[in-house]
Amino acid sequence: MFNFEPDNFMVGEYEDDQEIFRNKPNSIKEEGGRNWVYPKKPTGKFTNAREIVAFFLLAFFFTAPFIKINGHPLLQLNILERKFIIFGTAFWPSDFHLLAIGGLTLLLTVVIFTAVFGRIWCGWACPQTIFMEMVFRKIEYWIEGDRSAQIRLDKQDWDREKILKKGGKHIIFFTLSFVVANLFLSYIIGVEELGKIITDPPSHHWVGLTAITIFSFVFYSVFARFREQVCHFACPYGRYQSVMVNEDSVCVSYDFKRGENRANQKERVKAEKTASAKVSANTEVSVLDLAQGGSVPESKPFGDCIDCGECVRVCPMGIDIRNGIQLECVHCTACIDACDAVMEKIGKPKQLIKYASYNNIKKGINEIFTTRVKAYSVVLTVLASLFVYMLTTRADVESIVTRVPGVLFARIDDQTSSNLFNYKLVNKTFEKKHIELKILSPSAADLRNFGEFPNVNPQDISEGRFMVILPNSNLEAGKAELVLGLFVDGKQVEEIKTRFTGPK
Ligand code: SF4
Ligand code: SF4
Repeated sequence: MFNFEPDNFMVGEYEDDQEIFRNKPNSIKEEGGRNWVYPKKPTGKFTNAREIVAFFLLAFFFTAPFIKINGHPLLQLNILERKFIIFGTAFWPSDFHLLAIGGLTLLLTVVIFTAVFGRIWCGWACPQTIFMEMVFRKIEYWIEGDRSAQIRLDKQDWDREKILKKGGKHIIFFTLSFVVANLFLSYIIGVEELGKIITDPPSHHWVGLTAITIFSFVFYSVFARFREQVCHFACPYGRYQSVMVNEDSVCVSYDFKRGENRANQKERVKAEKTASAKVSANTEVSVLDLAQGGSVPESKPFGDCIDCGECVRVCPMGIDIRNGIQLECVHCTACIDACDAVMEKIGKPKQLIKYASYNNIKKGINEIFTTRVKAYSVVLTVLASLFVYMLTTRADVESIVTRVPGVLFARIDDQTSSNLFNYKLVNKTFEKKHIELKILSPSAADLRNFGEFPNVNPQDISEGRFMVILPNSNLEAGKAELVLGLFVDGKQVEEIKTRFTGPK
C-alpha cells in the first residue's frame, strides 16, 4: 500500500495519531475483543445505483440454476465429479488447459479492473457485499432500526422487545442462510439432484443433507457474526490489494487538499474568535512593529471537511476514509453519499469524497491507462484470443490412447508382432455417440479390438484395450509410427499418432 504524504494529509491535531489506523483494524479493540460496527443506513445516488446492480445480480443468483439451455444447466460447477457446465457447454477434466486459460483470463481481467478502478468488484459485485449490505443488513435495519436504535437495543436489558427483535432477526437470518445454502449446492450438483435430496427419505442423502447443514451454518455465521471480518481477514482478493492498487488507481478517496484543515463548527468559531483577537492585538503591535518589518501571523485556512463523522458512521467496515486508502475499504461508496448529503446541507460543492486517484487529488493528474495497465491489457488480449480460439476449436469427443504399461511387444510369428494399447473415449456432448478408432497408416497394420467399439453415453467415458498387429518389415530399428483415426458416428474427427514397437 502506498503511503500518503502527511503534510498534505493529516494536519494539526491529527498528526499525533495519524498512524493508529495502520496498527490494528478498527473492528478489533485494543485489548483484542470485537468492536462491533453499527453502520448508519446509507442513502444517495450511489446507494441507489448499487441497489439496482444488486437486484440484477441477486435475480441471476436465484434463477441461474433453474435456467436451461437445450435442456442443460446454464451454469453447473460440479467439483465433486469434476464436470463443469458453463452456458450449456460441458467441460471435463481433460479440458483443464481450457479452464486454466479461462481462469487466467478472468484473473487478469480482475487485476486490470483493480489496477484501474480499485476494489470496484468488492463494492458492486462481490456476493459477500451484495448479500451482506443488500439483503441481511437491510433486514437488520427493518427489524432493529438504524444505527442509533441498534446501539440502544444492544445496550438494553433482555426484555420482551429485545428478545422478539433479536430472536426474529436470527430466525430470518438462518432461514435465508438455509435457502442460500440450498441454492449454492444446486450450482454444484444441479437442481434435479437437489430436488431428490429434498424429497427422498433423509437416509438416502445424508451426505447432501450434511453439506446443506454445514453451508447453512457457515452462511449464517458469515452474515450474522463475522461480516466485515470476512473481508478483512479471510478474503484473499482483499489481501492482494496492496500489490494491485497504486497512486493512479481510481478509488473511493477523500479529497484531502480540499478537505483539510478539517474542523467542526465549534472549532471554526473558536479559531475565528482567536484570530480576530490576535489581529486586533497585532494591529496594536503592528503600529509599533510595522516600521521594523513586522507582519500579522497567519493560521492554516480551514478546509471543507467539517469533521462531522458522517462518512465514518455509514462505513460498514468501520474505517475512516479520511485516513486514505486502506485494505479494509471495499469501495461501497456509502461514505460518498453521506458526505455529499453533508456538503449539500452546508452549501459546499459535493464530491469531497469521490472516485479519484491519489495522483488526481494531489497533482491533478488523471492518467488511468498507465504503462502497467497497458502491459496488462496486451497480455489480456493475447490470453483472451487464445481462450476463444481453444474454445471454438475444442473437440466434443476426445480419445486417449496409451500403450499398456510393462508390455513392450509380442511375437505373433517370425514375421509379425503385436502391441497392446489402452484407450479412453470421452463423450462431452449431451447425445449418445458411436466412437471408434481405425488404423490410417501403415496400411499393413491390423487393429483388433477386444469386443465392439462402444456407443458412449452422453457425458460419459468408455475405456478398453485393443491390439495392433504389424508385419516386422514395416519396422525401422524396431519402431514404426502408427496413425489412428478417431471416428464419431462414422465421421473422422481427429488423427492420433502413437508408436509401434517390435523386434530390431
Ligand atoms: S462526511 Fe464529509 S464533512 Fe463529514 S467528516 Fe466525512 S469528509 Fe468530513
Ligand atoms: S471507506 Fe467508504 S467506500 Fe470504503 S468501505 Fe467505508 S464507506 Fe465504503
